[in-house]
Amino acid sequence: MGEQTFRVAVVGAGAAGTLTATRVLETAYEAGARVALTLVDPAPGTGRGVAYATQDSRHLLNVPAGRMSGHPDRPDDFVRWLGARESRDVGPGEFAPRSAYGAYLAAGLDEAVARHGAGALRRVRERAVRLAGADGDAGRRIGLSSGAVVEADAVVLALGVAAPGLGWAPEGLREHEHFVSDPWVPGALDRVPADADVLLVGTGLTACDLALTLARPGRTVHAVSRHGLVPCVHAEKPAASGPLPAPPPVADLAGLRRWLAVRAAHYRRTHGDWRPAVDELRPHTTALWQGLSATDRDRFLRDDLRLWEVLRHRLPPRTAAALDAARHSGQVAVRTGSLVAAEPSSDGVRVRFADGGTSCFGAVVNCTGAEASVRRSQDPLVQDLLATGAARPGPHGLGFDTAADGRLVAADGGARRPVWTLGSPRRGNLWETTAIPEIRAQAIQLAESLAKEFSRIIP
Ligand SMILES: Cc1cc2nc3c(=O)[nH]c(=O)nc-3n(C[C@H](O)[C@H](O)[C@H](O)COP(=O)(O)OP(=O)(O)OC[C@H]3O[C@@H](n4cnc5c(N)ncnc54)[C@H](O)[C@@H]3O)c2cc1C
Repeated sequence: MGEQTFRVAVVGAGAAGTLTATRVLETAYEAGARVALTLVDPAPGTGRGVAYATQDSRHLLNVPAGRMSGHPDRPDDFVRWLGARESRDVGPGEFAPRSAYGAYLAAGLDEAVARHGAGALRRVRERAVRLAGADGDAGRRIGLSSGAVVEADAVVLALGVAAPGLGWAPEGLREHEHFVSDPWVPGALDRVPADADVLLVGTGLTACDLALTLARPGRTVHAVSRHGLVPCVHAEKPAASGPLPAPPPVADLAGLRRWLAVRAAHYRRTHGDWRPAVDELRPHTTALWQGLSATDRDRFLRDDLRLWEVLRHRLPPRTAAALDAARHSGQVAVRTGSLVAAEPSSDGVRVRFADGGTSCFGAVVNCTGAEASVRRSQDPLVQDLLATGAARPGPHGLGFDTAADGRLVAADGGARRPVWTLGSPRRGNLWETTAIPEIRAQAIQLAESLAKEFSRIIP
């Protein structure tokens, strides 16, 4: 590449990295600028990440197809792509298989590369382990697990959802051969014996997906969590959306709770459904989160989080129906409880619960969701960023601290390095930042920030 080429490295080829790469190439193409993009991720596929790598067709998107376009200016893009691929009419209210969505994102990037020229993208299948570089060009050299280095003018860390936390797991369980610490790692479920009962720890969306994958005649899949709450289900026919709702006039968490209760009662009366009360908060969630005091945010994380999650992140009706049938037949059982001890047994793991009961399972699967605290991350790159001061934890220890444009805020409070992030790592600052509608908007914003950089470098 000649001097007139702007080099962008994107670490992470999940949905966030792939949408960013696509958008950067599109923006550069429109500006007539040459960009050389390096996309770094050990995963074999592109666009799949944690959520869309599953090949189980029962694992569905939990957002209707009509809201999953990668391009906010073309809201029916995913619906049309899926319809063309499957040669059928796809409705915007459909909940498509997640594997199809990964293929859609990869196809979008392929298209952008084809337009820009084949040399525009280099895919490196390695793990990034550090951000190297002397002060002058700090943040522009990415160290890879092989020892190789990728050099770039701008770096985007699309690291996604952290691996599930292990803080809850009693001693003896973490090292057990039949403990699945991260069920979304390809092949992780191979260590679950074919016919023994299984214990899922966690009762959220991941547990629901895995219960369907693992349930079969002759086996009971037990799902346990401290609250025993299972996600609510999407309405079969969602209430027609009205004009964009005004932000709730509340100043604190107590006001927000009251507001939600009043709106839910209102929608129950007018629509026979509470869900619009939760959905209408979505455009305002970030402002609400940022407007709460630190004490109220702590209170929310401690007292409201679980309930908020089951109301906000809902099951597709088809998944809920399959789960109900499996619970009815006894193949799936959900209950409250927490593990206090675990030890090997002749046929797997013997587990003791806080209520004193014990049971044996062929395998225990961690469905507790992403580790919330960035300081507890096992990822060498994350550890390196914190240790060198290139990044600092976000508010409440959630993700990284970021500037308004997504630049990493260093330990000294400055955001000078050409290093950006998006999606889940911005949770502490934005809260609502993990799903596609937010990620695609951030990818656009990020491509615009990078365009300013390359227009400075490339006249
Ligand atoms: C099971 C599940 C289902 C979901 N379903 C939906 C849904 O239906 N609709 C929706 O809107 N959202 C859904 N989500 C939310 C989901 O988080 C986002 O939609 C989106 O997939 C996040 O993409 P991401 O690229 O930020 O993260 P990830 O999917 O986590 O991808 C991050 C990528 O970065 C790579 N990576 C991380 N660290 C490094 C490193 N150091 N070096 C190199 N590569 C690295 C990883 O290998 C991974 O491929 C779901 C999430 C999960 C977990």
